[in-house]
Amino acid sequence: MRFFVSVTAVCTFLLLAQSNTRAQAPAPAPAPGAGDKAFEAFKGRFVEQLWKLYPGWAGSAGYHKYDDLLILPTPAQRNTEIVFAKRYLDSVQSFVRTRLGFDNAIDGILISNQLRQIEWNHEKYKSHEWNPAQYNVGERIAEILNGNYAPLDKRLMSIKSQLTKIPAYYEAAKISIRNPTTEHTQLAIDQNLGSVSIFEKDLVEAVNKSGLSSDDKKQMTALSERAVTAIKSYAKWLQELKNPEPKSFRLERELYEQKFEFDIQSGYNIDQLYQKAVGRKQELHGLMTDLSRQLWPKYMGNAPKPNDSLEMIRQVIDKISLNHTTPDSFQAAIEKQIPELIAFVKKKNLIYLDPSKPLVVRREPDYMAGVAGASISAPGPYDKGGNTYYNVGSLSGWEADRAESYLREYNNYTLQILNIHEAIPGHYTQLVYSNQSPSLIKSIFGNGAMVEGWAVYTELMMLENGYGNNNPEMWLMYYKWNLRSTGNTILDYSVHLNNMSKEDALKFLTRECFQQQAEAEGKWRRATLTQVQLTSYFNGFMEIYDLREKVKKEKGESFDLKKFHEQFLSHGSVPVRYIERMVLSRGKR
Ligand code: ZN
Ligand code: ZN
Repeated sequence: MRFFVSVTAVCTFLLLAQSNTRAQAPAPAPAPGAGDKAFEAFKGRFVEQLWKLYPGWAGSAGYHKYDDLLILPTPAQRNTEIVFAKRYLDSVQSFVRTRLGFDNAIDGILISNQLRQIEWNHEKYKSHEWNPAQYNVGERIAEILNGNYAPLDKRLMSIKSQLTKIPAYYEAAKISIRNPTTEHTQLAIDQNLGSVSIFEKDLVEAVNKSGLSSDDKKQMTALSERAVTAIKSYAKWLQELKNPEPKSFRLERELYEQKFEFDIQSGYNIDQLYQKAVGRKQELHGLMTDLSRQLWPKYMGNAPKPNDSLEMIRQVIDKISLNHTTPDSFQAAIEKQIPELIAFVKKKNLIYLDPSKPLVVRREPDYMAGVAGASISAPGPYDKGGNTYYNVGSLSGWEADRAESYLREYNNYTLQILNIHEAIPGHYTQLVYSNQSPSLIKSIFGNGAMVEGWAVYTELMMLENGYGNNNPEMWLMYYKWNLRSTGNTILDYSVHLNNMSKEDALKFLTRECFQQQAEAEGKWRRATLTQVQLTSYFNGFMEIYDLREKVKKEKGESFDLKKFHEQFLSHGSVPVRYIERMVLSRGKR
């Protein structure tokens, strides 16, 4: 799934969507509870208010009623949001005390967590003070400009209404900022200047070809020029900002722990998760050493084996990575694998795949170009009938060495793991299941760690069941792949809580996780601009894996893997720790 490094207020919430309640998981009530009907009505009112307060977030969820609104990031606005959060938190708590069915009780928990996080963001985390990159009007304007949900003229009038407020928006931003980090300041400058072309080029072109009156066109042009001036002056203000002791990008422990609880909603605390990641890394190194030793003669002939086992692994991995497709056949190679994955899942009875919802594989549309590889585009909660696409990137037009290095990374082995993760039975399959238990709340606030964890879990699960014929090359490349999410967790923890230096981080990623320099540099940058998000993949993976082993133990002989998977996915993107209650207690019946 796509990761948004542009941490605007909107995207932050999309990423964050979780909770910090240590609430007990609701006891499963198969019949609707007494309070369900009233709660449904409450949720409708709540979401409408939420969208009014966060119109940009609404727009990216596909709800366009408030496209005209640009909310100014003032102290008064933050106060309004806090009041909103407290008020709705009170009401949701009173519903939770009535009897709700499992799915609604989870919705209640997700809403509470989101509301608590809104308060926490403004009162404790305070990114409005230290992250100047959260102020950027460009992304939303581009989204409305490229949207096809309404005629161009109508969308342009929404943009016009926003344009009138852009100068005031950046003035409010400047007033909010206090001792920003160097990293987020630079990001803000780059991203804001990067969005100037949306106004100077895309918007101008759209206005010219629109059916707006010549008066409206003139006004739009003038307003758009004012917007550009405001953006450029914001960037200049940031460049000239005197900030002799900038805040560190490293989040202090107390805030990190709270953010981990909100974002991940894990059954583990961060120290337990870190210990698990370190243990997994050691386990992977051991397994990789054995496999590399076994594969050495086949790939390295009589060359002497390095004494350093990590060096030996690297050499074997480098050799195996030369087995890759060509730029021209990259798309075909991905497309060919989808039916093979479906056939394997069926043959091994791993999970039911709904044949009426086939995955639509398509060439990556132009507006996504550059995101090579593969990704899933799912319809938003307000566009349920829309297709889900598997976008396959094209490498045509890439320079030879860039394509070569990319193809080594996505070689014949890892390309299969990528398809498992993104498509079958990873993200795509999970999506089909979650759409069968439709909940607007879960699609807005669904648990990212569960979603990513499922995709990461399926990689291992497929191999455990014999996918790839237990080929040692396949396992070795899988272990390298799995080291990525394991390493992400170790990196994030070490950078934020153990003061890890850039030099040590790069050494860790290249030497112990076998990453290329460019990948490692990108990962370091991501660790400096975000906190906690990098732990989500490994956390979800570990929680699901541990849960499966627990259920297996509880059920003994009668354990049914297919049933476990189907039950696990049947409630949507719920934090694993709540599904646990559900799956285990059902098992006792
Ligand atoms: Zn993913
Ligand atoms: Zn090659």
